[in-house]
Amino acid sequence: MRVCAHQNQAEFFMTLTTISSFDRIGEENAFAVLARATQLATGGMDVINLGIGQPDFATPPHIVEAAIKALRDGHHGYTPATGILSLREAVADRTLETTGVAVSPERICIMPGGKVTMFAAILMMGEPGTEIMYPDPGFPIYRSMIEFTGAKPVPIPMREENGFAFSGNEALSLVTDKTRLVILNSPANPTGGVTPRSEIDTLVSGLDRYPNAAVLSDEIYDQMTYDGEEHVSLLGYESIRDRLIILNGWSKTWAMTGWRMGWSIWPDALFDKVRKLAVNAWSCVNAPAQYAGIAALEGPQDAVADMMQAFDQRRKLVVQRANALPNVTCLTPKGAFYAFPNISGTSWKAKELASALLEETGVAAIGGPDFGTLGEGYLRLSYANSQDNIAKAMDRIAQFLEQTAPPKAQSNRPITASRWRDE
Ligand code: PLP
Repeated sequence: MRVCAHQNQAEFFMTLTTISSFDRIGEENAFAVLARATQLATGGMDVINLGIGQPDFATPPHIVEAAIKALRDGHHGYTPATGILSLREAVADRTLETTGVAVSPERICIMPGGKVTMFAAILMMGEPGTEIMYPDPGFPIYRSMIEFTGAKPVPIPMREENGFAFSGNEALSLVTDKTRLVILNSPANPTGGVTPRSEIDTLVSGLDRYPNAAVLSDEIYDQMTYDGEEHVSLLGYESIRDRLIILNGWSKTWAMTGWRMGWSIWPDALFDKVRKLAVNAWSCVNAPAQYAGIAALEGPQDAVADMMQAFDQRRKLVVQRANALPNVTCLTPKGAFYAFPNISGTSWKAKELASALLEETGVAAIGGPDFGTLGEGYLRLSYANSQDNIAKAMDRIAQFLEQTAPPKAQSNRPITASRWRDE
């Protein structure tokens, strides 16, 4: 009897798996690399992590204090699903200051992290028979979520020759009557590319012909540009404001990845849908964290400026050292905290190299194909690490590339199973 029950259960789960859209959901291999790096470090290896996309700085103390005070003041219950009003007002003030555009707090929803805005927007727009455009190479969750909804993923090439920005004309040539959502991200993960205003102008003016295509602009790195590079917010384009969703948050700018705090700006027509999603899925964002969010937006910004200065120095170091590696070239990133060196001249496949570097030298990096098909031939190096560690990591990579030939039959095998495995 028992065996029979197990068989039935196994069959039941098999059926579930084959019909479930969860079969199509992907993941972010950076988390798998982090897990493996931690495992190696626990085993005694001296691991240098250039893999993970989070600032290595502590959240500024006044932000931490604001959360502690909020708890002491008794802010430990539910809040409105879309976030406390004073926080949404602070987001509106900050948006006006950084973009010059006045946005009503009634269109702002506080989210449990930046990622959840892409989850909500893609879920709202995607269904079988529709198309969603996304940057390639780009943040892997875009494609994963698009496939989850059954929509067709349409990659927008982010080419090295364009400084890892999209070409407005090329992007426009991919828009069709089935396009429901165009996802943009500048400054970009994984390349550090910043898309110039001229290319955005071209794309946005062409979207006039496609009134059913909404835009999701992921601006989570908006404060992270270098050499005076301009960040162009899509909010500045009035013609698409009634179909524009903005993703932003606290994770990167204020070194708050573990607080799970993001904000989103929605068109009037979609706001009630995201409010209902919040009520169904997370009720509200952690209350003391929301008070910390106010302190981050309204308090002193010197910690942010100091962090950016440190990132800038590391950026120069990583680029200079990457360009000195044998058969490697590296564009100078204009934003975020990633470099995306071109390793195609080394004859290594990118994921194979990333895996060998971690296992053999203790340097964690991410293979470009984890960010899309156009990522082959590249490695992502996050420079959220000290200059000493970056220098040490680059020494190890140099020595490895000088002494180790790529394996003959490279399988492009990732460190753990990943749906991008064979792309
Ligand atoms: N968007 C991009 C482009 C990112 O790189 C990341 C995180 O790496 C996110 C969104 C998600 O941010 P969060 O950690 O706040 O969910």
